[in-house]
Amino acid sequence: MNRDIIVIGAGIMGLTAAYELHKSGKKVTVIDEGNITDCTSFGNAGLLSAFDKGPLSNPGVVLDTLKLMFKGESPVILHPTLDKKIISWLWKFINSANPQRLKRTIALFEKYGQITIDKYKKMQEEDGLDFDFQHKGMLSLFTNQETYNKKIKQYSYEDETRFKILTKSEIKDYVPCSNEKAKGAILFKKNAHLDPKKVITQLKEYLENNGVEFILNEKITDIQFSEDKIEYVKSATKTYEANTYIMSTGYQTLLADKLNKELIMTPAKGYSITFNMPKEYEPLTSTLFADLFIIMSPRKDDVRLTSKLEIGSTNPAVVKKQIDSIKENFKKYTIPFEMSNEKLWAGFRPLTPNDMPLIGRDEKYKNLIYGMGLGWLGMTFGPSLAMILNDLIINDLENKDCDDILLFSGFYQGKY
Ligand SMILES: Cc1cc2nc3c(=O)[nH]c(=O)nc-3n(C[C@H](O)[C@H](O)[C@H](O)COP(=O)(O)OP(=O)(O)OC[C@H]3O[C@@H](n4cnc5c(N)ncnc54)[C@H](O)[C@@H]3O)c2cc1C
Repeated sequence: MNRDIIVIGAGIMGLTAAYELHKSGKKVTVIDEGNITDCTSFGNAGLLSAFDKGPLSNPGVVLDTLKLMFKGESPVILHPTLDKKIISWLWKFINSANPQRLKRTIALFEKYGQITIDKYKKMQEEDGLDFDFQHKGMLSLFTNQETYNKKIKQYSYEDETRFKILTKSEIKDYVPCSNEKAKGAILFKKNAHLDPKKVITQLKEYLENNGVEFILNEKITDIQFSEDKIEYVKSATKTYEANTYIMSTGYQTLLADKLNKELIMTPAKGYSITFNMPKEYEPLTSTLFADLFIIMSPRKDDVRLTSKLEIGSTNPAVVKKQIDSIKENFKKYTIPFEMSNEKLWAGFRPLTPNDMPLIGRDEKYKNLIYGMGLGWLGMTFGPSLAMILNDLIINDLENKDCDDILLFSGFYQGKY
């Protein structure tokens, strides 16, 4: 079979890349080791939050995290490790959390976050996909007076297209389950949310119906390469050949390791609890309990809580202690209500130290394109990154000739 493109990994990166390339007239095959119902792109919070949230590598983040650890409310879990890769990642993370980078990162987030929102809207309008896309803003709710005061200072001007500072009674309207401990809240109007499970299932269905080949439950275990290109990729029993290969394997670096390509990223485990609750207590829009790093997203049929950022673990199990800790922290700031039909999930963010994705052409194997390192904002940037990869492939560009790669790719960010 003649294939133009093989996409390895069918998370948001792989599927949106397949979507763009299919639209550009390429013959695309998508291969995944699973059946794409359990990848990170499936169980996340579904926030499209490129605006006013700021990057993870933020000045002050280390101190703030330490304070929360002291209070027993920290979402960050750092397992003690001597792993050189993790220590080097942490070092880069601490160094990239500086004011110089911050402004640049915020500008890039807004540029590519807006492209993504436009792309999701277009998928719904033009291709009839329906993934409960809601452009109602994201509420940041503060439970700590000090952080709220700090945040509010940044918003001492007026811009009603961008944000609204809520009164106490408006907070109760937006988040009826919040209790009197909420110190304040800001609605960031440019953000949106969607149901990630529906994005993945709808995209797959659309692509399959339009001739994109899917090979599921097939792990690619090896890559055969010559001097300057990939010849084919292999599973345990088969080989697959194409003109161009996209590596979009999320947090997993098995294939990059085969090529001796060091991708500076680390798996950062997170959890979600999906449940039903009394309708009258559901929030009006996605809500970030900012001091706890707990996100509450309302969806058509249920509500999802997501939290935790655990570094140094690759155990895929849902650990009860972490679920209990999310619930315990959440309950401190909400009124009692019953959570029914609970579904628990854990997944790994492919986290880079400076919030920049690892995208672009391999310097040596020119027919290999990376779509990696989407971090904690893969849903927020997936479609815009797919547009960039499509541009690179369709126009046969080198990285150095693609402005978007030079601007946004973690491969081109200097030392940090
Ligand atoms: C708790 C949590 C909450 C989050 N909330 C948000 C949010 O609100 N907004 C947001 O923008 N982002 C969020 N994220 C981040 C987002 O989910 C990720 O950035 C994104 O899903 C990564 O997508 P991906 O396509 O790179 O990887 P994945 O979704 O992990 O997909 C990679 C795929 O590659 C396959 N694969 C791997 N190796 C192989 C192989 N060798 N052969 C074949 N297939 C292979 C895997 O099976 C998998 O299906 C969250 C993440 C977590 C954990």
